[in-house]
Amino acid sequence: MKIFRIIAIALVLILILAGCSGQSNSTAAGTLPVVQTLPAETETPGSSAEAGSTAGKTTAAEPVTEQVTTEDPATEGPATEELTAGKPTTEEPVTAEPTIEEPVTKEPTTEEPVTEEPATEEPATEEPATPEWTTPVWTEPETTPEPTTPEPTTPEPTTPEQTTPEPTTPEPTTPEPTPPPPATTTPPAGSAPLVCIDPGHQAHANEEQEPMAPGSSETKAKVADGTHGVTTGIRESVVNLTIALQLRDELEARGYRVLMTRTSEDVDISNIERAQIANNAGADAFLRLHCDYGDWSSSGISVFCQHPYSEYNGFQYENSRRLSETVLAHMCRVTGAPNLGVTEAYHYSGINWAKVPGGLIEMGFMSNPAEEQRLLDPAYQQLLVQGMADGLDAYFGR
Ligand SMILES: [Zn+2]
Repeated sequence: MKIFRIIAIALVLILILAGCSGQSNSTAAGTLPVVQTLPAETETPGSSAEAGSTAGKTTAAEPVTEQVTTEDPATEGPATEELTAGKPTTEEPVTAEPTIEEPVTKEPTTEEPVTEEPATEEPATEEPATPEWTTPVWTEPETTPEPTTPEPTTPEPTTPEQTTPEPTTPEPTTPEPTPPPPATTTPPAGSAPLVCIDPGHQAHANEEQEPMAPGSSETKAKVADGTHGVTTGIRESVVNLTIALQLRDELEARGYRVLMTRTSEDVDISNIERAQIANNAGADAFLRLHCDYGDWSSSGISVFCQHPYSEYNGFQYENSRRLSETVLAHMCRVTGAPNLGVTEAYHYSGINWAKVPGGLIEMGFMSNPAEEQRLLDPAYQQLLVQGMADGLDAYFGR
């Protein structure tokens, strides 16, 4: 706007000069000094009204405009500032500068991802390499713990827990079947007479029935409970076993081969089975040790053997009879006990099923307190053992 104002003022001055002097031609060169006064008038505030008048004189002012333009460089500071302010277009490129700043803004944006990278590194200090290797590195630790975990897990539970209890269970199971068929089933090798010793009864009776004799319809308990000490209550099976073990030792000491039907109380061997042990071993003598039960005054030793007419083992009657009488005689001689003789019996299944020479020895009466005490006396037990061993020696002629 100030430009127009200046132009208008210039036009007015030109018109005034042209109107005041008719010598327009001579003053053609004189216009320049007038122009030099423009800066002073430019500052006059009242020129605004004049500007409006000069607007209608556009045609005449055109040549003047060129002059003013020429004068612009002459116009110093104030003019330059005005021009700059009036040039909105020129400022537009300045506006582009902020646009240039936008890429600068992108720079911080570019830095932002960089900032995110350190942020990613923070959670895991190793992650600078980790983000890219995240997949392989993560797979490796999985593979490592997997084999490591199953290996310790598998051996630990399997080896100590299962292996230990399993062998422990069969171990007790193994000895259990061993007693029923006594480990002594196999007789010792040798040519010496084989004596099978059967300690009568066992810790617990077996009331199951079995034929009393081969082909017989009559049955009997597999193992009876036996008698007991009238004063101590001790089981007959215990006394029988105690003396039988001593007899075994004595016979072995004398060079016999000995086969025991049982060596402990905790067994379950029927009377037929005991006879079969002696039969299968081919025993030369089968001695069954028992204790008797009568009344408080009963005393003495007796022996039972099969009948001579037994269909099953009558052929061994002579040997069994002689064996029984010989052993009984020596026992009574050594112990001083009354000799109650040898009795042929048919109600002992252990005798009926035996095919080897044998006898059932009733070593004394547990119903007699005095005899019970003797049966429990180790010294008297040794006398019984010596008598039986001496009888076997006599029987076998040793
Ligand atoms: Zn008995």
